[in-house]
Amino acid sequence: MNLLQIEPTYDVEAIRADFPILQRRVKGYPLVYLDNAATSQKPQQVIETLVHYYENTNANVHRGLHTLAEEATEAYETARAKVARFIGAEPESLVFTRNTTEAINLVAYAWGLANLKAGDVIVLSEMEHHSNIVPWQLVARITGARLHYVPFTPEGELDMEAFEEALRQEPKLVAITHASNVLGTINPVEQITSKAHAVGAKVLIDGAQAVPHRPVNVAQIGCDFYAFSGHKMLAPTGIGALYARRELLEEMPPFMGGGEMIRRVTHEYSTWADIPIKFEAGTPNIADGIAFGTAVDYLQQVGMESILQHDQQLVAETLRLLEAEEDIVIYGPRDPASRCGLVSFNFKHVHPHDVAQILDAHGIAIRSGHHCCQLIMRRLDVTATARVSFYLYNTIEEVHAFWKALDDVRKVFGKYGGR
Ligand code: PLP
Repeated sequence: MNLLQIEPTYDVEAIRADFPILQRRVKGYPLVYLDNAATSQKPQQVIETLVHYYENTNANVHRGLHTLAEEATEAYETARAKVARFIGAEPESLVFTRNTTEAINLVAYAWGLANLKAGDVIVLSEMEHHSNIVPWQLVARITGARLHYVPFTPEGELDMEAFEEALRQEPKLVAITHASNVLGTINPVEQITSKAHAVGAKVLIDGAQAVPHRPVNVAQIGCDFYAFSGHKMLAPTGIGALYARRELLEEMPPFMGGGEMIRRVTHEYSTWADIPIKFEAGTPNIADGIAFGTAVDYLQQVGMESILQHDQQLVAETLRLLEAEEDIVIYGPRDPASRCGLVSFNFKHVHPHDVAQILDAHGIAIRSGHHCCQLIMRRLDVTATARVSFYLYNTIEEVHAFWKALDDVRKVFGKYGGR
C-alpha cells in the first residue's frame, strides 16, 4: 500500500513544539497520541496560564475588594467572554460548568423539572453519549416524561425520516449530539433545530466533539442549549460550558443553591444573582476557567477552518488505509467531509482491547471500549470498538505509524481466516 503525503494546512511541527507531553517516549517509542476524543493534550501556554494564576493572582472571584480579587475576577470574566465569542454567544449566555455532562445535567434538572410533566416526550438519538441519555432518564423518572430514540442508518447517519416521524409526537425537547464520538457522524444541527422549533420543542445540542474540531456558531444553529467541555479543546480538565438562550436562563430556576448565585437571603427565601452567575453556585473553577480562555486563544490563532481541514486529511488517509484491509470493519460514514476527526474500527477476529494493548507497546495511544455509547454498540452488535481520534498536532506520519503497527496485531493473533 502506498502511503500518501499531505500538504499540512499549517506548520504542524511548530504546533507540536508547544505541547511538552509530545516530547515523551512510551515503551521506548515516541508517543503517538490518538485518543483526543477522550481528552486533548495541553499546550505550554495553557499550562503557563495556570502557573501564572497561582503564582500571581490567586484569589476568590466576584466578592473581594482587594487587588488580587479584582484581577482574578477580571481574568475569569475575560475568559468567559472569549469562550462565549468562540461559539458566537454573549457572555451572559455562557455558564461555566465542570464539563459537558454537568452542562446537560444543569438543563435536565433546572429546565427539565420546571417544564416537563407526565406524558411529555423527549427526543434523543441512538448515537448519544451516556451523558446525553442518563440525565434524561433520571428526569423522566421524576416527571413521568417519555424518552423516544431516533435510530441511525446502516451508514451511520441520523435517520432523518425517523426524526421527522418523532416530531409528530410534538416533543417538549430534542437533545441530540452535534458529532458522534463513535461513528464520527456530523449531524445537521441547523436543520434539526429548525424542524424541532417548528413543532414547539426546545433543542439541546451536545457539542463535546464538535466545538474542539470545527467552527461552531450557536446563533447560526439557532439552538436553545449547547454543551461542551474544555478538556477536549486544549483547556484543563474540570471546566466546561453551557450556552443557553438568555430568556431561558432568565426564567429557569437555579440548578444548585449556595454562595455566589444569590442576591438576597432571608430566613424563608432567597433571590438570585443575575445570569449567568445564578447558575454558578459556590467558588467556581477559577484557574481552569481562565486557562480555558487561553486554550480558545490558541485554537483561534491556528484557525478552526484549518484545524477542520487538517482533521479531515488525517481521517481521509486513515479511512483509505483501513478500507483496503479485509480483516477490518469500519464504522460510520465513509466520506471524510461528513465526519469529525475520528475513526472507529474493529478487527474481525481480535478484541479491540487486545488491539489497544498491542499498539501501546509501540507508544501508540488509541481508545477501545464502548466509549460511553452502549446504545450504539447494541445497534452495531458489538461489545466494543477500537477508535483513533486526531487533533491539530497529529501528523500523517503518526497515521502511518498506527497503520504499520496493526501488522503486529496480525503477528500475535494470526491472519483473519488463516491458521
Ligand atoms: N458527549 C460526547 C459526544 C462526548 O464524546 C463526551 C465525552 O467523551 C461527552 C459528551 C462527555 O464529556 P465530559 O466527560 O467531558 O462531560
